[in-house]
Amino acid sequence: MIYLDHAAATPVCRKALEAMKPYYMEEFFNPSSPYLPAKKVASDYEAAKAEIAHAIGAKGNDLVITAGATEANNLAFTALSLDGSCRRLLPQDFANANILGVPLRRHHPSMLYLETEHDSVRRVAEALGGTTIKVLPSGVIDLQDLRDKITDEIEMISVSLVNNELGTIQPLAEIAEIIRRVKLDRMKRGLKRQLLLHSDASQALNLLDISVARIGVDLLTLNSAKIYGPKGVGALYMSHEAHLHPLVTGGGQENGLRSGTENVPGVIGFATAATETKKHLKSNRKKYQKLKKILLTELQGYELVNKKHSIDNFVVLCYNGIDAERLIFLLEERGVYVATGAACAASKGEKSHVLSAIGLSDAQIAGSLRLSLGELNDAEQMHEAARVINEVVALERKRVNG
Ligand code: PLP
Repeated sequence: MIYLDHAAATPVCRKALEAMKPYYMEEFFNPSSPYLPAKKVASDYEAAKAEIAHAIGAKGNDLVITAGATEANNLAFTALSLDGSCRRLLPQDFANANILGVPLRRHHPSMLYLETEHDSVRRVAEALGGTTIKVLPSGVIDLQDLRDKITDEIEMISVSLVNNELGTIQPLAEIAEIIRRVKLDRMKRGLKRQLLLHSDASQALNLLDISVARIGVDLLTLNSAKIYGPKGVGALYMSHEAHLHPLVTGGGQENGLRSGTENVPGVIGFATAATETKKHLKSNRKKYQKLKKILLTELQGYELVNKKHSIDNFVVLCYNGIDAERLIFLLEERGVYVATGAACAASKGEKSHVLSAIGLSDAQIAGSLRLSLGELNDAEQMHEAARVINEVVALERKRVNG
């Protein structure tokens, strides 16, 4: 098998798995229990949270642990107030919006989000009546469009650090600087409305050196499943400017922001994976640059979609006139696993909103493949993958052209 879909899922790294094991059996206690062994588990849990936070230059208390990035993204939007400043959003507002697709607000938009965001941002933002910010054909945010759209009503801006279909890295520090100026101007005019920057960094932590202070975000989503940690674990970083509202209420865990017995093994695994990832950032980047080069040199008859500002482990190829869904199927038969884009969108057979946003035609979108490299790959596999993809594409071209 040659697995080229690390953006969809990564295997749990051995160190993370080993670190998690004791918390399933010997150290199974509920961290909220009053006896000593449980208190030790609680303290290990807090230490693991601090370790995850350290990976982004934050403190354990700045994080809310969630059941994945989808929940963290949903939670981030609870920092919005419903009508400018009066009523805060309640869990049922979100539930209604998510389940029924009910727009929560119609009078004026109070949030902006990048048109290429993952559905876990896009769907909520749409339901909240948010306005999209355009991307340029490179997939990078159109900063002028952002400037034009930050009206006095805007309270939050959501821009992912790395796009999950293209691997595009967004200039968050520049966005934060624009926000800082708007805030200063608002202050001068006596306007008190908050202006928060949220970023979904699900696809970023494995290759980028993230520091929340340096990039200037108020809310940052992390995803264990994309960095060789366990699935179903994520975190939301929040600065003291962001005031969240729980989506899940109950026993009051996570400072009341996310009730439910803590997923201790998951968080231990997430922390180990985050530390491991951080240790190997530079060497991994170099490795993927080399592997990418092999692919781009040996593959034939493609157009590279993510030419600029892309993270090193993403290769998006367009084979005009070919059906990428068929390619995926034919490649799988030969042991090569690739994707057309976001796994969730692909499973619903939807056209990619990301590739549309960068101006690709329907035929180009239909012929696009996403290859995302990772720990399971080496140079030999790249030569083999290129050979197999070339062969399958040539067969398909022959079939299509009769
Ligand atoms: N955000 C981005 C950018 C992603 O790539 C993903 C997963 O593919 C998610 C959010 C959702 O993560 P999860 O399914 O772990 O909740």
